[in-house]
Amino acid sequence: ASFEDFKLNRQLLNAIAEAGYSEPTEIQQKAITPLLSGQDVMGIAQTGTGKTAAFVLPLLMTLKYAQGNDPRALILSPTRELAMQIEEQIRLFSTYLDLRTVLLYGGLGPKTQKEQLEKGCDIIVATPGRFLDLYLSGHIHTKQIKFLVMDEADKMMDMGFIGKIHRILEVVPRKRQNMLFSATMSELVRKIAGDFLAFPTIIEV
Ligand code: AMP
Repeated sequence: ASFEDFKLNRQLLNAIAEAGYSEPTEIQQKAITPLLSGQDVMGIAQTGTGKTAAFVLPLLMTLKYAQGNDPRALILSPTRELAMQIEEQIRLFSTYLDLRTVLLYGGLGPKTQKEQLEKGCDIIVATPGRFLDLYLSGHIHTKQIKFLVMDEADKMMDMGFIGKIHRILEVVPRKRQNMLFSATMSELVRKIAGDFLAFPTIIEV
């Protein structure tokens, strides 16, 4: 298998080659095509399987270039460390694309994050609490969000984020594409997946 088999553009394929990725991992092989065709996907995959690129590549392909000031994609992460890793992968693959990403997490003052949001962005990578704070203070407009990703859903549930996730689901448009990733499948993950996804393709690696 090769990344050239996917309907990705030259800009992305060049960035993938420069990152030294020679072939897609199993989760990438199974998730990229359904995501590019607009389906919801639930991926059961551990860290280290290449799950980040499995959702980042189709997301970048679909967004392609900057448009307006309001975010079109929201990626939720349980921790700041994971959010930073996701943002790093986005940066790696968007070298030849014109997309703006803002990283939001707690544990520090919101001033810089507010300034970044004011400049406009296409993608937000955020932890749930800081996302909601900045939404409630009027710094994030959610009407254009068409892609919603929840990474490490099991960890989200373990950390007690279920209430915040439900609140976020209330403030984003109904019509959107969803991607949920989890290392394990528990009753709570099944429940949040049911609230989050519509007729998902389920992939387990
Ligand atoms: P993840 O499971 O998303 O945390 O990715 C684990 C590591 O594998 C990261 O350092 C990625 O940069 C790397 N990686 C992901 N996909 C590939 C690939 N197709 N070829 C080589 N390395 C990859």
